[in-house]
Amino acid sequence: MRVFLNPGHDQHYDSGAVNPSTGLRECDVAAEVGGLVQGYLEQAGCEVAVVQSDNLNGESPWLPCVVQSANAWPADIFVSLHCNAANGQARGTETLAFAFGGESEKLARCIQDQIVDAVGTVDRGVKERPDLCVLRRTDMPAVLVEMAFIDNDEDARLLTEQTDEIARAIARGVTDYEQEAFQ
Ligand SMILES: [Zn+2]
Repeated sequence: MRVFLNPGHDQHYDSGAVNPSTGLRECDVAAEVGGLVQGYLEQAGCEVAVVQSDNLNGESPWLPCVVQSANAWPADIFVSLHCNAANGQARGTETLAFAFGGESEKLARCIQDQIVDAVGTVDRGVKERPDLCVLRRTDMPAVLVEMAFIDNDEDARLLTEQTDEIARAIARGVTDYEQEAFQ
């Protein structure tokens, strides 16, 4: 299976959310998790591409385009990696799918279940987000994982201290989906 990983935001142009007390940046967490997930998926026999870019769908043409790269490769599935942020109090993991009732929801449930089981985060469930560009413009089943809330100090600790467990869980979710979908 060809897996396209898109760590969210951009380490040069867009930090994403930042923890106000530690300065932990979403773009760095996403990049680290993305690299780890890539390794675990390659060990499991997947082909993996990783693109982290501020150009999601053509708005910054001097940078690699996330959506076009995934569609041109082409990927079998698309997984974007992000951290949530709200009011400092909210916690937990949620996985966003383009649509309910299709392959993206199945993939989202596989990943969501593995993260919640592995790390014990608050289970905020799978949500339908047809409005998100990376889910709407990609041709393959596409999900966006909000791993935990980076602006909540307890969740931020999970992101820094259980990075590897989170990455392993995402990789297991992908291979769980592969077994459901391709066998
Ligand atoms: Zn984000």
